[in-house]
Amino acid sequence: MSQRILIVEDETDLAQILAEYLQRDGFVATTIADGLAAMAELRRAPPELLLLDLMLPGMDGISILRELRKTSDLPVIMVTARTEEIDRLLGLELGADDYVCKPYSPREVVARVKTVLRRTQGAANVVASSTPHRSALEIDADAQQARFAGKNLELTPKEFRLLQTLAGKPGRVFSRSQLLDALYEDNLEVSERAIDSHLKNLRKKLAPAFPDEEPIRSIYGVGFAFEW
Ligand code: CA
Repeated sequence: MSQRILIVEDETDLAQILAEYLQRDGFVATTIADGLAAMAELRRAPPELLLLDLMLPGMDGISILRELRKTSDLPVIMVTARTEEIDRLLGLELGADDYVCKPYSPREVVARVKTVLRRTQGAANVVASSTPHRSALEIDADAQQARFAGKNLELTPKEFRLLQTLAGKPGRVFSRSQLLDALYEDNLEVSERAIDSHLKNLRKKLAPAFPDEEPIRSIYGVGFAFEW
């Protein structure tokens, strides 16, 4: 069955082009230009994924996402007009699954939609997944121990916490300050750059387990995400 994507975008030409690209890839795309109408549609018939523009008439993207997240884990890709805005949005911890910045290539957005769907649907089926990496990485919160393919990864407590935070929400983008909050009780004294050295060491320790890929993706100017 086709998956339905809801595009909430008040630039109707842009929404139309994107809808066509998605349809060409086998998705069913619905477009809505008004925030309040979008909220009503989300309640009436939730799609498989929401592409949500930030600035909208009626109700803005942030308010829509806040409202949605009270009751739903629906995958959301946030669309913004400025890269700088992404940092602010991350700080609000809205729980978007990815961010794209205008102007974007529709092809790239379609690719991001597929990635987010694969990831979120995959996350719901971790046990049933046949992807070796997914089932091979185990994070034991009680023992504070991560294992790959049954073998203990020798991580420091900070590296463990970093991996636990990132891998706990695969694909979700964390800013440096969010990671700092996860790592330090009181981060007043700690530079955001401290994250970089822990990350560097964690990546080095993960490398033998992931020889063909880098499981921790850097998003330039924004932060980091764990992706299998
Ligand atoms: Ca807009």
